[in-house]
Amino acid sequence: MTTDVAFKQRLLTPGPTAVPPQVLEEMAKPIIHHRTKAFQAIFAELSELLQRLFVTSGPVLSIAGSGTTAYEAAQVSLIRPGSKALTIAGGKFGERWQDIYDAYAPSLGIEQVRINTPWGHAADVDQIEQALKEHPEISVVTVVHSETSTATCSDVRRIAELVQKTDALLIVDGITSVGAMPVEQDAWGIDVLVTGSQKAMMLPPGLGFVGLGERALRRLEEVQPGPYYNLDLRKWVKSHAKNDVPFTPPVSLIRAQKVACAMILSDGLEAVHKRTRGLAEASRAAFKALGLDLVSHSPSDSVSGAYYPEGVSDSELRAAVRDGHGVHIAGGQDGRGDKWKGRIFRISHMGYVDAEDTRVALGAIETELAALSDSFNPEPGVAVRTFDATLGG
Ligand SMILES: *Cc1c(COP(=O)(O)O)cnc(C)c1O
Repeated sequence: MTTDVAFKQRLLTPGPTAVPPQVLEEMAKPIIHHRTKAFQAIFAELSELLQRLFVTSGPVLSIAGSGTTAYEAAQVSLIRPGSKALTIAGGKFGERWQDIYDAYAPSLGIEQVRINTPWGHAADVDQIEQALKEHPEISVVTVVHSETSTATCSDVRRIAELVQKTDALLIVDGITSVGAMPVEQDAWGIDVLVTGSQKAMMLPPGLGFVGLGERALRRLEEVQPGPYYNLDLRKWVKSHAKNDVPFTPPVSLIRAQKVACAMILSDGLEAVHKRTRGLAEASRAAFKALGLDLVSHSPSDSVSGAYYPEGVSDSELRAAVRDGHGVHIAGGQDGRGDKWKGRIFRISHMGYVDAEDTRVALGAIETELAALSDSFNPEPGVAVRTFDATLGG
């Protein structure tokens, strides 16, 4: 039997991601009650660290649930009943935000203007500008900064500039961008910025975060709550002002997120972004050196994806990489815009992952692809050699 020591596991899936030992240790501390000064002090400290990560002076709410919980809360709490949402999708997650507004369409009386971009392409900024002009009644715009399913980055800064000129609010899915790549809520004019704990934030799953700008706070006061309860951001904002939460929080995650945020900020946001970008660029170079096609025409630095060579089984490849090398990578997903299950694989560059983890992953992928495909014969070691050359150069 192999032991943990003899066979180290490396989690390179784009969520959940690996958690540093200091953060895991913090989670092992005894549970404290949350209606106490002790908890409020921890919560206040976390909220301040989150503001630095979001680069905002507005409140950043910590909500129990996954990233989807936090994003859904923003979607339903901020849209004006009886209005329109401009929903931009080019992958699985953008499509999810459309599904959520579909689910609430009858109860909130909302319609969508949908922009669906081909998977692997960034959101088309001109198309967004046009849609905003044609539909001045749009009250909310949803967009994904880093579309994890397609490893693709959109120009959220330019999109925010456009939306700021209108009466609509921009809700950005920053679930794999905050803490991984440059995104500045206030300076860019992002009304609502959402992330989750298990991607670049170096925490296990279980928390979602919602940063609210001034326009979003005003909208919350103006709009009457609809048929939702836990997801009503008004409740969360009211408690947040008192360093509190409306319902029992996952205390262990809250205190551990404080440690993880402090680690990110002590490295410095710029240094973290640079490290993430370095791993991404070098990994993409390695994929190309293997003769693989990248899945994205506008690659995100959080995650990289490539198409499999002809005839390789996704489940066999990922099992071989996992069982033979202890490396956990992700496959593709199916959605409305495309079907990538079985056709692509992805590795993460977010959070607690270093060059050695990535080297091991690339070496494992090269070895197992070569073992599974007769026609795939790269020059042995080319992936890691290219990775090193690109990282060093
Ligand atoms: C992971 C992810 C989500 C969904 O988050 P959950 O925590 O799984 O609910 C949404 N958007 C993006 C871009 C993601 O990467």
